Amino acid sequence: AKKSFLRENLLTILTVVGVLGGTALGILLRSTTGGQWTKRETMYLAFPGEIFLRMLKALIIPLLVSSVITAIGGLDLSLSKKIAIRSILYYSATTVCAVILGIVLVITIRPGVNGTSYSGKQSNVMTRHVLTQDTLLDLIRNLFPPNLIQACIAQAQTTLKDPGNGSKELTSWDFEERYENTTNVLGLVVFAIVFGISLGKLGERGKVLLQFCDSLSEAMMIITSWVIWISPLGVFFLVAAKVLEIESFAELVGRLGLYFATVLLGLFLHGFGTLSILYFIAVRRLPFKVIGQLSQVLATAFGTASSSATMPITIQTLDKMGLDPRVTRFVIPVGATINMDGTALYEAVAAIFIAQLKGIELSFGRTVAVCVTATAASIGAAGIPQAGLVTMVMVLDTVGLPAEEVINIIAVDWLLDRFRTTINVMCDCLGARLVDILSVGELGRADEQDRLNAEPH
Ligand code: ASP
Repeated sequence: AKKSFLRENLLTILTVVGVLGGTALGILLRSTTGGQWTKRETMYLAFPGEIFLRMLKALIIPLLVSSVITAIGGLDLSLSKKIAIRSILYYSATTVCAVILGIVLVITIRPGVNGTSYSGKQSNVMTRHVLTQDTLLDLIRNLFPPNLIQACIAQAQTTLKDPGNGSKELTSWDFEERYENTTNVLGLVVFAIVFGISLGKLGERGKVLLQFCDSLSEAMMIITSWVIWISPLGVFFLVAAKVLEIESFAELVGRLGLYFATVLLGLFLHGFGTLSILYFIAVRRLPFKVIGQLSQVLATAFGTASSSATMPITIQTLDKMGLDPRVTRFVIPVGATINMDGTALYEAVAAIFIAQLKGIELSFGRTVAVCVTATAASIGAAGIPQAGLVTMVMVLDTVGLPAEEVINIIAVDWLLDRFRTTINVMCDCLGARLVDILSVGELGRADEQDRLNAEPH
């Protein structure tokens, strides 16, 4: 039995070893070479990982669009409505819990009180000089892409033409409709949902396109099953190179240590506490075995720091675990895009941490506003590395701080990003599992009930 366990879980074990080994290699290279690695050398080391990422990214758009269309078009409307409502309820409940937990922790631990703010050089901080309203409008704009081809490569992001002139009254000429160079996943998902519904309505005549999308998504899954074998190596090199790139370890243990620990504690409590309790309340079983089965997905999320790039592997793993494809193919693409508990928690903690550094006292009303904007910021963040740092502008604006202040937390953000992405993805997977269990009867999968009953309660 031991041998078959090893064989069955070989890939998972290798991927986890990849993350750990990558970290070890990074640390080793740093200490033996005195950290004298140039950007170019680090790029060489990351290269195999970069190729792995490129392969995963290539799958995202075709997989996402075809999966959502197949899932929605393949169910009758009332059932997809139920699945949609269940997942949206789950997403909102978990995100709100995450933000509240973050706020409670940062207010109790007070990592920024008596802390010192950043005093180094102001270089390479991406500041946008926009207000909460602009970011919220961008979020809504992105739901409605005017051009689907463009949505594959860019999303709206309002910027000011002349950031230096923040004090003067702005006219519409001061705004620039800029497009950021990432896929507008949210817009594509919305379009795919609408398209799936319309195909369902077409009945017989819609079948051709549905079958086309079905074949397309299955083909993407096959490619994923090939790419997945490279994941141990991919994450190994990505993590190793990242460790080499770190500018200062001192920040991790020094000035930002307590902040880092607060976010980490929050992520841990949310992942293993709140989510488990919610899961237990909903389906009367604990999710730890499921979380164990997700190790491969979680290691990939940690290695890539991107929910979107992890998505093909997420869907593949959930398929293997026996979830209904009609559920996963809707819940995961949507979840990877809008459900980011880890990011929501981090946004709240980070903004309040910076406010504490600056000696700003937050009223109850402001704290509630942080709760709302942190949620919106997590929905608006793309599933790519450090996207949360960009949407943070909105939360900072709520506490009355300019965008530049993100510089305070940048030093450790790359690492926190990996942890929060892991929790983001874990929450999506548990959501899919939960909706799957809750919908078993309606999906007409009576056999499923026996399998579930066999699971430990
Ligand atoms: N990297 C995160 C994700 O892909 C988003 C973020 O918080 O920056 O889920």
